[in-house]
Amino acid sequence: MSKESILDYKLMELSRSKFRSSFHLRKYMVEYIHDKGMKTILQHAYDFINERLKPAYIENDGKQTPMRGHPVFIAQHATGCCCRGCLEKWHKIPKGGELTQNEVNYIVALIMEWIKREMKDCDDTNEKNSNTSND
Ligand SMILES: [Zn+2]
Repeated sequence: MSKESILDYKLMELSRSKFRSSFHLRKYMVEYIHDKGMKTILQHAYDFINERLKPAYIENDGKQTPMRGHPVFIAQHATGCCCRGCLEKWHKIPKGGELTQNEVNYIVALIMEWIKREMKDCDDTNEKNSNTSND
């Protein structure tokens, strides 16, 4: 499977979970992404994953990812990449060892793909809205 189809398949699986699919970017987060640019968001995603998920032992595991604030946090919940427990459950990445660079890359790619799709949905909705107001 290509990298794209792996991400595609995973996002499809996640969309079947009521809990995971309940997460969406808020308007202020979309504005933040527009403001900062995707490159910066990508860098933030790497920073968060390296700091909060990569270590073999995380003291507050399960509670390290806020439910609001940064768009990457929301994407982590939506993609099952919020803590090592969820990583094990959703992505078969076992707890108790440091994440490899490959695993970090995979997690970040999944998060960024989810964000991209959310941004697209958002833009589509805005377009629809502006079309109706022009009627
Ligand atoms: Zn979790």
